[in-house]
Amino acid sequence: KGGETPHIRTPIVCVLGHVDHGKTSLLDRIRGSSVVSGEAGAITQHIGATIVPIDSITSMSGAMKNLNVSIPGLLFIDTPGHHAFTTLRARGGALADMAIVVVDITEGFQPQTIEAIQILRNCKTPFVVAATKLDRIPGWRKTEKSPFLKSFAGQNERVILLVETKVYDIVATLAEHGFSSERFDRVTDFARNLAIVPVSAHTGEGISDLLMVLIGLSQRYMEESLALTVDGPGSGTVLEVKEEKGLGATIDVILFDGTICVGDEIAIATTTGVQTTKVRSLLQPRPMKEILIEDRFLRVKEVAAAAGVKVSAPGLDQVIAGSPIKVIGDDPEEIKTSIAREMTEINVTLSPEGLIIKADTIGALEALCKELTAHEIPVMRAEVGQVSRHDVIEAETIKNPLYRVLMAFNTPVLPDAQDLLHEPSYAEMVQFFTGNVIYHILEDYLEWRNNLKR
Ligand code: GDP
Ligand code: MG
Repeated sequence: KGGETPHIRTPIVCVLGHVDHGKTSLLDRIRGSSVVSGEAGAITQHIGATIVPIDSITSMSGAMKNLNVSIPGLLFIDTPGHHAFTTLRARGGALADMAIVVVDITEGFQPQTIEAIQILRNCKTPFVVAATKLDRIPGWRKTEKSPFLKSFAGQNERVILLVETKVYDIVATLAEHGFSSERFDRVTDFARNLAIVPVSAHTGEGISDLLMVLIGLSQRYMEESLALTVDGPGSGTVLEVKEEKGLGATIDVILFDGTICVGDEIAIATTTGVQTTKVRSLLQPRPMKEILIEDRFLRVKEVAAAAGVKVSAPGLDQVIAGSPIKVIGDDPEEIKTSIAREMTEINVTLSPEGLIIKADTIGALEALCKELTAHEIPVMRAEVGQVSRHDVIEAETIKNPLYRVLMAFNTPVLPDAQDLLHEPSYAEMVQFFTGNVIYHILEDYLEWRNNLKR
């Protein structure tokens, strides 16, 4: 334990992108399994935190065998749904140390891709762009598992030109959003340029390049912040609350710091406030080949960061996804207060005059607020939760008609608020914008405001 060499924590990587652009397939390819074919309706059902040990990454290509890598591996999170990234928080920021933004090379950027990069910018999370489905480029001649440049060199001129054009389209779109980017092999300074790696989850082409860029990112920027203790009491984030046969409500947790053991007292945020309970069991998925064994889970005594683990304990049914989870050490009261604080701490700038915004999670609220602020649209009040009657009434009292606006991002409108919004007196006064893509809400607002000014 301890010693002279600091423990370098396994970096946590999230995959974001437009639906159907290939997030799950990419992760599958990386972990060399094929969950995607067994997925109901091809929707990600299981949160998986998959640890890919460094050895299995470096053995993928000759170039990597000689790298001097100090991280133990990479932990990939397959987020359950598009917005989960914004609920996955740690220490008031994003849980993920890095991200992969997936974009279908044949389709290019879509609204959810744009939103993904906005969220990552707000969280200051380093990322790499994976331009997937390379094998779908008409005329592409595949070479299984080959590095990108090797496959690319074997293509005919027309295919080469097409790939260049598609990559350039991505570069241009990223530039519109303030990012400077290049195809990964042309990037000389990873601190200034985003890398775009063309890959195919189906053929495995470019996958080793993608992993190499990820390792490069983690080595260059994160060694210090990753050199955290794995010995202390565990800290993590709740990904999902899940009912399991024979176990009742369980929580899927990403442990990013310290250790958690069976019998530990833990504190978590629930719909009725911060609660404590005692860990009954710690469960991990069985390896792929053992999937037919009746008991789906492997019971373990303790787990050290970074790792994904399912926790079974009494009273977990009201736990809020995205809540911090902490093993209680010396000062239970302090831990409980810090969890309560983390659940409400919103890192945004509010103005005395501006509009009102609501969102389903703190992370989503921050992302929307920062996007508005970036467009010089002031926000007066920002809250997590459903749109209530009170919100409508308050919006109506805003003096400046340009800000007499209520925005709801990915959160429902309560029936009485809905009624009020339909009342002619309010409908005329309060402008209501709703949606589940930040970028659309913003565009709608700007369009409305431009018409108003005319
Ligand atoms: P997700 O919604 O982003 O998780 O996307 P999926 O991984 O479920 O992929 C959506 C569809 O695209 C599936 O039919 C995949 O088989 C297909 N797909 C994903 N990656 C590739 C790829 O690299 N090449 C090809 N040809 N198809 C792909
Ligand atoms: Mg998926």
